[in-house]
Amino acid sequence: MDERILWLEGESPVAQPALTWCVLAVDDDADFQRATAFALEELQVLGGRIELLQAFSYREASAVLARRPDIALVLLDVVMETDDAGLRLVRTLREVIGNSEAHIVLLTGEPGMAPVQEVMHEYDINDYWSKSELTADRLLTVLTAGLRSFAQLRSVTKARRGLQMIVESSNALFCSKSQHELAGKVLGEIGLLLDQPAEGLICMREDMAAPGGPLQGRVISATGRFQHARDTSLDSLDEPEVVNAVRSAFDLEAVVRRSRGLVLYLPRLQAGADYACYLETACVLDDTDLELLRVFSASISRGLYNVTLFRRLEEMAYQDELLKIPNRNALLRMLDLTLQDEQLRSEQVLVLIDIDNFSGANTAFGTGYGDFILGLVARRLRDAFASQVLVARVRDDLFAILGPQQEVRAAALVALFRRQGRPYELGQVHSLSSVTLRLADFVGSAHIVLQSALLTLKQAKSAGYDQHVIHDPGLQRTHAESYRMLLALRDAVEAGRISIELQPQLDLNSGAVIGVEALARWRQADGQSVPPLQFIPLAETTGYILPLGDLLLRLSLQAAKRLADAGYGGVRVAVNVSAAQLLQPDFVERFDAHLRAAEVRAQQVEVEITESVAMRNFDSVCSQLRALRERGVSVAIDDFGTGFSSLSYLRLLPADRLKIDRSFIMEIGAVADHQLIAEAVIQIAARVGMQVIAEGVETPLQADWVRQHGCHEAQGYLFGKPMPCDQLLNWLAERGQATA
Ligand code: C2E
Ligand code: CA
Ligand code: CA
Repeated sequence: MDERILWLEGESPVAQPALTWCVLAVDDDADFQRATAFALEELQVLGGRIELLQAFSYREASAVLARRPDIALVLLDVVMETDDAGLRLVRTLREVIGNSEAHIVLLTGEPGMAPVQEVMHEYDINDYWSKSELTADRLLTVLTAGLRSFAQLRSVTKARRGLQMIVESSNALFCSKSQHELAGKVLGEIGLLLDQPAEGLICMREDMAAPGGPLQGRVISATGRFQHARDTSLDSLDEPEVVNAVRSAFDLEAVVRRSRGLVLYLPRLQAGADYACYLETACVLDDTDLELLRVFSASISRGLYNVTLFRRLEEMAYQDELLKIPNRNALLRMLDLTLQDEQLRSEQVLVLIDIDNFSGANTAFGTGYGDFILGLVARRLRDAFASQVLVARVRDDLFAILGPQQEVRAAALVALFRRQGRPYELGQVHSLSSVTLRLADFVGSAHIVLQSALLTLKQAKSAGYDQHVIHDPGLQRTHAESYRMLLALRDAVEAGRISIELQPQLDLNSGAVIGVEALARWRQADGQSVPPLQFIPLAETTGYILPLGDLLLRLSLQAAKRLADAGYGGVRVAVNVSAAQLLQPDFVERFDAHLRAAEVRAQQVEVEITESVAMRNFDSVCSQLRALRERGVSVAIDDFGTGFSSLSYLRLLPADRLKIDRSFIMEIGAVADHQLIAEAVIQIAARVGMQVIAEGVETPLQADWVRQHGCHEAQGYLFGKPMPCDQLLNWLAERGQATA
């Protein structure tokens, strides 16, 4: 910091108030008291005059000392009422009254009679005189030396106390998290430091960019009569002298003194701003005060710099780097705060907005295009709301708006992006989907709120584009459970508690095992199993099916390898594949890599996809399946009969086998109509030239029936339940199944 301390032009140092030294003469000898009073009258010592107080006894003297803490020097007769009255007074002054600064000059009646040595030593007294030696001249010398040592001692003590306070004040400053909070504390701490009321303001230089231009200052904190100036610009302050003094400190980059106060200049540290602190004090500041303030201002500068750093870190942790708006962390933090506040919770809503078709367009047109669309959405949302509404980017093309429900309405939000005549203006290809969730309907943490909103949005989007839904609180419990289950599933994957079992598929004519279906199993630590119909759909809606599916594929291929090694290379392993897995652009390459890693022939593997998946994404599914079949992998259409596929589509579908859904097989021998459907399914398969397999065959009756109607393959409990690979190998061996 600049070491200069300058006086403002036009102002000069006011004369310090006249300095007075307070001296107490203690002696029961009236003559000596009179002579002393006479000698000290009109005397100037070290630039000050002397105020003489007199006491004639120990009692009187201790009363005066207790009343006047400003006594600088005591002339003390050792012998008064008693022989040691003077020495007792020294003790009282130092130990009882606690005054360690007043300088003491001991006087004795007879020359050469030294006072008790220990007392002099203990109380740091090295000044004693016999009264007869103390001429007027000598008295002046003694007083001058005594008062000088008093003044030194006092300023050292004051500085020491001040330094200790600086340490404490600095600690208080370093805990501040915002500029306002810090600035507010600074003014308070300065008052404490100077031990007198101080009022003032702290001003931040706003625009460093325009050299020579007018200074733009912002008052970030103010106390006392300046209080109303807080958060206004410096110029709007109706006190030209104050404004002028602050400007001078900025211009000169130095401390500027005024008659009743000063402006501290706080230079910027690294990338921070620079500040000026204007102070007015009740009393004139002395050199020690100035020195303290100078030391303290280094702490203030560091504190302000810390606050800037802190804000930077905040930005890094809570701001989206691309769009410069709050990120997911910021949203979660704000959500948590809102959920904790009954009032806010009762009136706020969370709206999530998703740009339909975004990832497709981002891939097709490049990330530059994607960034442009995201920027557009972020800007328009931000501009639409006052600052108490939080607009955040959760991830990718997903935005969140959190605020009062009368302000944050999905319809109005979406209207921001619609253009007359056309449905949406966004790149002309995007619509939006949204979910609105009332926090009042909710219990649970921010994570659960966000997760629930996401699940609802995901479900809504599965119905198509331009979907706008309100979150149904009834679903929350299910969502909360789903969320917990998803976490547990991830743990299970990591702990290796996910496995597969294999269920045999037979040729009904020869009785030979032609294949096995690999089925996922999750056995929990307590031995309980979670059925795949619970965790597979959950993994599918949350996207976790990709890593999970990868794992299941690897386990299935390992089983295929074991079968082949045991001589059952002709037994196909059928693997269930979800839509999300199959539709990954690199699915086929990954599949290849897995085959190579497991050392399994493509011909030993079958992929099962459900009929509904095939029909919903017909073109992309077909091209993926074609690529798989080119490699030798066969394809089965699972749950056939439930997906409304027309014959014309079925003909185009690159598949080898239709699996008649279990529900139709179940009815065989029970309900006549359903037998008809099963019969029709078998006939359709024959018409499109595919193999057909019946699943869920439990009884010999069912087995006979399907065979008689032209279906020659079957899978079901009648033949074998799903079982671990070891068990399957034994089972095959026991059956005497021929090895290839
Ligand atoms: P799915 O693909 O239709 O599998 C056939 C289901 O029928 C299996 O149930 C199997 O144990 C059961 N099943 C087989 N024979 C009989 C029988 O005679 N009677 C009865 N009552 N049931 C029989 P599971 O293992 O509970 O699997 C249920 C569903 O979970 C599967 O239906 C499939 O959609 C899904 N799934 C299972 N494993 C996987 C997997 O690895 N990946 C994917 N994507 N989905 C899987
Ligand atoms: Ca299946
Ligand atoms: Ca099935």
